[in-house]
Amino acid sequence: MNVDKIREDFPILKRTVHGKPLIYFDNAATSQTPQIVIDTIVDYYSNYNANIHRGVHTLSQEATDKYEEARIKIQHHFNAKNAFEIILTSGTTHSINMVASGFSSLLKKGDEIIVSALEHHSNIVPWQMLCEKTGAILKVIPMNLEGSLQMDVYHNLVNEKTKLVFCNHVSNALGTVNPIEEIIEKAHQFGAAVLIDGAQATPHIKPDVQALDVDFYVASAHKLCGPTGVGLLYGKEEWLQKLPPYQGGGEMIATVSFEKTTYAGLPHKFEAGTPNICGGIAFGAALDYMNSIGFDNIATYEEELLHYGTSELLKIEGLKIYGTTAEKTAVISFNVGKIHPYDIGAILDKLGVAVRTGHHCAQPIMDFYKIPGTIRASFSFYNTKEEIAIFITALKKAVLMLS
Ligand SMILES: *Cc1c(COP(=O)(O)O)cnc(C)c1O
Repeated sequence: MNVDKIREDFPILKRTVHGKPLIYFDNAATSQTPQIVIDTIVDYYSNYNANIHRGVHTLSQEATDKYEEARIKIQHHFNAKNAFEIILTSGTTHSINMVASGFSSLLKKGDEIIVSALEHHSNIVPWQMLCEKTGAILKVIPMNLEGSLQMDVYHNLVNEKTKLVFCNHVSNALGTVNPIEEIIEKAHQFGAAVLIDGAQATPHIKPDVQALDVDFYVASAHKLCGPTGVGLLYGKEEWLQKLPPYQGGGEMIATVSFEKTTYAGLPHKFEAGTPNICGGIAFGAALDYMNSIGFDNIATYEEELLHYGTSELLKIEGLKIYGTTAEKTAVISFNVGKIHPYDIGAILDKLGVAVRTGHHCAQPIMDFYKIPGTIRASFSFYNTKEEIAIFITALKKAVLMLS
């Protein structure tokens, strides 16, 4: 993997912030966009911008073909059995809400839903709403101090009443890779469906939904070198048939009259209205780009960055890392002594380094550690050890100023 060459693909990496070269370590919030994806977006609006699936004219057909090609690219990337099992959405949050809303007609009072303690807010709130609506009960898989799930407790939580299990593949706050194979297998023993939130895993891991035997898998393009406002809901055909449509509108109907409307088949049943056409096509281009680098190469290189960053950070007095499991992606969440994470983040920004500070949409994890938040540095395949070294120097400067 030639990182210098890869960096040339990202125009934003050439910019400066407060007169310093940008060091972008907020990849867990959103990834940067390579030129080939930017070109795809410009090409769409310059040459074949049209609405899809309805026009007989050339532009509409070109746009439709490219959009459906992108769906097939996504299908192949995730190894879904059928292209119609890939629903294009506006992103992970939208996808999760679609499943939650669909299950409201399948659940009854006393049914149980299990979520993990490591969830993003977008993975907690929809289930609370679903429980309020249906009388179902929410159960939580607790976490350990090192940031992993208490799997023995999970095995005791699952029973005949369990209808749904939700877990992220990788925690955005700590980087923990969760044992989703084990979670899925256990849930299936009791006939429960499993939804895996892959938003944080997909930039580092290429999931195989058939091998996992997962019922639903969701992700966002913008964490995968694609644009914002587009993502996917993979659902097994049998589940997508069972769930009612999410929204009414154009595209999702077969016939409409005031007496009765019949719904379109998959995937259109779940794709009401004009979708993010350009975004979908650019999502396909982003997957092509990442696959051209190769997910094995990405994982190996990012692990090197993670080990280097971790060992250098731990040399700083009073620095504590949250999330210390062996299985983790290149995310380092930490605090230094009692210094507020926001203050360190603000100084790092003045020095050109972009990190995230706060609760990372995972307040229950922060409550667990009894801290207001952390500083989170998250690396991507276009980052370098030199950047990490500059970041460490900047961090030491910030700590000195604030102590
Ligand atoms: C980013 C993220 C989300 C939310 O994704 P959106 O693109 O904002 O919908 C959900 N879960 C995890 C684990 C994430 O990292």
